[in-house]
Amino acid sequence: MVEKVIPIRLDEGKGLIPSIPGKLISPNGLISDTRGRPLRDLRISVTDRCNFRCTYCMPKEVFDSNYPYLSHSDLLSFEEISRLTSIFVGLGVEKIRLTGGEPLLRKNLEVLVEMLAKIRTTAGSSLDLTLTTNGSILRKKAAALKNAGLQRLTISLDGLNDNIFKKMNDVDFPVTDVLDGIVAAQEVGFSNLKVNMVVKKGTNDQEIIPMAKHFKGTGVTLRFIEFMDVGSSNGWDLSQVLPSQEVANRINAVFPIEPIEANYPGEVAQRWRYVDGSGEIGFISSVTQTFCHECTRARISTDGQLYLCLFAKEGFDFKTLLRSGKSDLEIANAIMSTWTKRDDHYSEIRGSNTLIANGGKKVEMSYIGG
Ligand code: SAM
Ligand code: SF4
Ligand code: SF4
Repeated sequence: MVEKVIPIRLDEGKGLIPSIPGKLISPNGLISDTRGRPLRDLRISVTDRCNFRCTYCMPKEVFDSNYPYLSHSDLLSFEEISRLTSIFVGLGVEKIRLTGGEPLLRKNLEVLVEMLAKIRTTAGSSLDLTLTTNGSILRKKAAALKNAGLQRLTISLDGLNDNIFKKMNDVDFPVTDVLDGIVAAQEVGFSNLKVNMVVKKGTNDQEIIPMAKHFKGTGVTLRFIEFMDVGSSNGWDLSQVLPSQEVANRINAVFPIEPIEANYPGEVAQRWRYVDGSGEIGFISSVTQTFCHECTRARISTDGQLYLCLFAKEGFDFKTLLRSGKSDLEIANAIMSTWTKRDDHYSEIRGSNTLIANGGKKVEMSYIGG
């Protein structure tokens, strides 16, 4: 039984201090929130900085030299991330995704990967350890990541046309270097690579077919993501969202595709395959087909705040707990009491009155990770 705990708001408005229940219980890998959703995935943002300024994520006008990025002492250290991850794993987490900002900008990231790769689930299996990157320095880092025990990689790429891609990343970064990063990852032995393409209607939707054609038959799974209203700075509006169904129709008209079964309950992307057997593609339709009912993801921000939803307005300050001498059991109980009260289902209520009533600033994606 987890006691009802009222979190205390931090003075500086950073987050809520999760309270530790008076009566501690040992975790048994099974907890669920108020909607019956277990805790299975943990996304960890290892830096809030990025060398790109994708217009849908870190627009230049907002993320300029005056932007209050976190200082080094605010970041969770590798030891703190690793400790927290072990505690989460004791509560049922099996899958870890490192993200950011641009995770490969975090110095010596492979050292963290090596630490995380040693953690075992309660059943004794290794974790599903994966990372999402913009690919810009993947050529340099791929071998070290592979040797450290990273299992899977997702690379973001929004088009093959240099002008369009440069317009999206807004730092003049060329397509060829990202493609070269993908080749480097394959060369060092990463298989089942995924490539994420955010589709913004009127900006890069003409790249859908060229991207499908490029990756078809290569073993790389291309996934189309609907442009989302994350954060408060990307100027989102519904007219810029191209529904996944329309993306699927466009592809189907050129390369026939058919839907296939999900790999596991709660999988974010809907899976489809080319009818001619030349591989798989995916759709992440967070705007038009919500998947909150199966959402088993928690997020740790760069400075150790636990977010229960990508669209949450505030997090729970686990960095303070980590740095105040609390035991693993106390922290596990604080996570349990936070998760068991979780009711988040933002995508299901997007645009509703409830949302407007709860309005205000949402947290930026570069801070809690995608
Ligand atoms: N920098 C890395 C990268 O770009 O892959 C990791 C962090 S990034 C925040 C993670 C993913 O979120 C990327 O695939 C990115 O395209 C996606 N993303 C960012 N902003 C988005 C938005 N507004 N809508 C949909 N996807 C978004
Ligand atoms: Fe950087 Fe990734 Fe955001 Fe683009 S999507 S600005 S690469 S964090
Ligand atoms: Fe999960 Fe929140 Fe996204 Fe719904 S909106 S799928 S609860 S992260």
